[in-house]
Amino acid sequence: MTGPTSFLGLTPWVDPEGRFSARLVVPGDGPPIPNGVIEVADGMITDLFPGPDNTATDLGNVVLLPGLVNAHTHLEFSATTVPFPANEGMAAWIGEVVTSRRTRTTHTNPVRTGLDELNASGTAAVGEIATTDWPTDLLHEGDPTCVVFREIIGLRPDRCNEGIAVASDFLDGNTNNNCRLGLSPHAPYSVHPDLYLELVGLAASRDVPLATHIAESPEELELLAHGTGPMRERLESLNAWDGSSIPRGSSPLDYLTPLTNLRHPLVIHGNLLNDREISWLSQHRHIAIVYCPRTHAHFGHPPHPWARLLEQGTPVALGTDGRSSNPDLSMWKELQFLARLAPTVPAENLLAMATSTAAAALGLSESFGTLAPGKQAIAVGVTPSDTSPLSLASVLASGHLAGTLRSGRWHPA
Ligand SMILES: [Zn+2]
Repeated sequence: MTGPTSFLGLTPWVDPEGRFSARLVVPGDGPPIPNGVIEVADGMITDLFPGPDNTATDLGNVVLLPGLVNAHTHLEFSATTVPFPANEGMAAWIGEVVTSRRTRTTHTNPVRTGLDELNASGTAAVGEIATTDWPTDLLHEGDPTCVVFREIIGLRPDRCNEGIAVASDFLDGNTNNNCRLGLSPHAPYSVHPDLYLELVGLAASRDVPLATHIAESPEELELLAHGTGPMRERLESLNAWDGSSIPRGSSPLDYLTPLTNLRHPLVIHGNLLNDREISWLSQHRHIAIVYCPRTHAHFGHPPHPWARLLEQGTPVALGTDGRSSNPDLSMWKELQFLARLAPTVPAENLLAMATSTAAAALGLSESFGTLAPGKQAIAVGVTPSDTSPLSLASVLASGHLAGTLRSGRWHPA
């Protein structure tokens, strides 16, 4: 069925419905379906069944996976071609971030550049951190659904009122199905504890998701515990430090505890969570940890506790983080990187981190995360290596992105 032409009159608009078959369909919430068929109407999945079906558009030697969900990124850095150096630690890296923001000259909005990259790499939804009011007018039809977390920074007591006002105004802004709003008190080292509590309270009262960077670096832990170290020096250089803001002897657990009452709290990184904090998380399994494997490697942090967290039932979602610490925004590459890092972890568990768990963490389970009737018709197509037996593990190990089935149309990579 053909509908109206686009505003340029060049591209025919195809009504998003039909059937698509692939060598293997991996729904994510049930066994893989050989020669599987996905039926789509109005951009939604209406059925999923084993083929063959000669009415379906055959995508050929392709494995279809649920559209990937990127739980954490900073699209403002999407024009960055090489990650900022991190070999001198987090405090020094933050200096690079600040310099980059001050000297940015790009003409194209980097958020748009980032959305295009997310589209090209099969991303269905994304958790995005916004440091200013976010350009919702840049969102196109077919872009990933964005959960935009407004970042709030303010360690000095005199910044608290402004921070809560900005957050409140942001949540009063427009939202729609493609863009939902949340809050991000940035991190324990950059947000006054009182402001942090107020922001968590605001997120709870408005029932919006909240993302916050916790237990990311040794510099953060030293600042919390002793009020000393390179992070303090960095904050002083930015005129952001106030010696009375953080009580000595503070720890990540002080910042985890207030998250208990939220419906969708996301702890970004959690690289250095200790035994006590990990054990506490086992009692609060609605709190998701977001692990960004390539960013974690870029900083050279000690091994991340993600596998241990998964074993105890803590949801662990994957994110790319921004191009300030990662060479690209491809969740597929993130997933393959993790599969190489953890060859003994079942491939289904790894896929869930980049699909269903990430969707649940962002509050988007109704529409994303698995291929099932009633969910949005977005699937990632991967071409398996011809030499390997067909399994999800082999596809993760050596497959390459073939394209994306989005709203009933196949977009080759
Ligand atoms: Zn981040």
